[in-house]
Amino acid sequence: MVISAEAAARRREIALRVRAAGHHDRPLAMAPLSVCAQPNAPARVEGRPGRLRLLKVSPVLDPVAALREIAYLMERTRSDTYRVRAFRHAADLVADLSSEERAEHQRQRSWSTIPGLGASSIGVIEQSLAGRVPDYLAAKRAKAEPLVAVESPLRELLRGDLHTHSTWSDGGASVEEMMLSAQRLGHDYCAVTDHSPRLRVARGLSAERLAEQLALIDDLNEVLAPFRVLKGIEVDILDDGSLDQTPFLLKRLDIVVASVHSKLAMDSESMTHRMVAAIANPRTNVLGHCTGRLITGERGTRGQSQFDAEVVFEAARMFNVAVEINSRPEREDPPMDLLMLANEIGCLFSIDTDAHAPGQLEFLSYGAVRASQAGVPAERIVTTWPLHRLLEWANA
Ligand SMILES: [Zn+2]
Ligand SMILES: [Zn+2]
Repeated sequence: MVISAEAAARRREIALRVRAAGHHDRPLAMAPLSVCAQPNAPARVEGRPGRLRLLKVSPVLDPVAALREIAYLMERTRSDTYRVRAFRHAADLVADLSSEERAEHQRQRSWSTIPGLGASSIGVIEQSLAGRVPDYLAAKRAKAEPLVAVESPLRELLRGDLHTHSTWSDGGASVEEMMLSAQRLGHDYCAVTDHSPRLRVARGLSAERLAEQLALIDDLNEVLAPFRVLKGIEVDILDDGSLDQTPFLLKRLDIVVASVHSKLAMDSESMTHRMVAAIANPRTNVLGHCTGRLITGERGTRGQSQFDAEVVFEAARMFNVAVEINSRPEREDPPMDLLMLANEIGCLFSIDTDAHAPGQLEFLSYGAVRASQAGVPAERIVTTWPLHRLLEWANA
């Protein structure tokens, strides 16, 4: 394959960013990932789930990796986003320094002169550079437990995730770091599905920015292969059921998740029409968090929107659109009664995390447990399918 000098340079830059984003050469540095990605690993058999493997991990001496691991461990247990962002921001600041600059700050004990570095982060940086596992990280690792007491057998069958966000919209980490984390979790693929233009509060992507992101994903795929980054969108379902992005761009995507984010309280009949129109759109693949409810969490609670669920799920079945099982603990969407109804009707499903940060990619465990409880067969969960079958379905 002949590539232009410009493309080659861009790819080199991406490769560097990927390396900066995630200590690519040391996949085991993030121990909790391996615990969850390999539920039958020997560590578990020996009694204390997760712990043994944590102990075997070699010390992390890279301050950037240490800060990112702390953020990751906090995200998977849903810590306050503000605190997590402080660690991610600190990691970015240190990543931008040369090794000489790092050494100089360490010698002078001058880390606090860098704006944006807090006391906890500075402690982590100093201890890492002094060649020891930072206390803060050690404490987080010691507390790390599997997210669910008993993993669903479905979890092992899941090959990827069709709904994630990055800093391009309202996520907390770069596309590069999100996808590296998905790869480390053992996924074969992961879709980047940032928001569409009308969702301004979430910095939805204009057509131009989405096109830019697609170019980045092409380059990222060269670097991460055979892992596959899927081009996607979480597109707003507008009031009349149309989708909030140009048909031309939607056609260029691998995966389209369509979700309602506005006027959640409209009357049942209008909402039913709206959702069915979106489902009937040939570009829609997944119906995101169908009721929009929030049952707990930082954003407060919100009741579920009203619609004729039989009509909506029947439409999803007819048009081969997967009903999302949204794994976020504050959503648990659809609620159990609707999930069982959709299963009875014979819908396809997609178990997604809707992750806004790397650590949240582990939420798949929650969705898998709920799918099991509802009796959903693995065969009807599109994210258990091999990638080629998934793409065939998505582009049919
Ligand atoms: Zn959403
Ligand atoms: Zn989302």
